Amino acid sequence: MSKGILFVLSGPSGVGKGTVLDRVFDKYQDVEYSVSMTTRDPRPGEVDGEDYHFVSTGEFKKYKDNDGFIESACVHGNFYGTPKKFVEEALDEGRDIILEIDINGARQVRKNFKDAVYIFLTPPSFSELKDRLEKRNSESKADREIRLRNARSEMTESDGYDYKVVNDKVDSAAERIIEIIEKEKKKGER
Ligand code: 5GP
Repeated sequence: MSKGILFVLSGPSGVGKGTVLDRVFDKYQDVEYSVSMTTRDPRPGEVDGEDYHFVSTGEFKKYKDNDGFIESACVHGNFYGTPKKFVEEALDEGRDIILEIDINGARQVRKNFKDAVYIFLTPPSFSELKDRLEKRNSESKADREIRLRNARSEMTESDGYDYKVVNDKVDSAAERIIEIIEKEKKKGER
């Protein structure tokens, strides 16, 4: 049996990775989402085990010490990691997986998963990104400024990616990602 394909969706903070990926799953279920582990608090409406596995810092550290992640990163003061067991088992069983992770994490995945497909989601412009972070209003002003500063340098990292998708409209960005997934699956069948 052939192995599954690993898709990595990354891009600057606030670009809308989560929103676009939700839209992808509304339309398309032929890829599985890898649920990350995080130490950040759940936001209203988020479900443990679906949006994230919410854990304490102690639990996260234990997992990391036991080599439980394929990558992990501290993003805006919270820890996030991709559980190794789920990804490896799924790929071995021929199931295709998508990760939604920050750029630092994507850099780590690249070292061990050379065959993965890397998709960079980019805002139409920096000012658009600033507007979105302000509208989302889920961080304090100070946090937002940190995210924007990080985003400025993160936006220069798209070169190493296989595909660049502009998030001008959620629907069209989601469609484009589905097209990429379909195209790569077809390649794999040949
Ligand atoms: P949020 O807290 O807004 O859900 O996510 C903050 C950032 O963490 C986003 O850029 C998101 O892509 C990233 N992120 C979520 N899960 C992971 C993960 O497992 N690993 C890494 N490196 N970043 C993650």
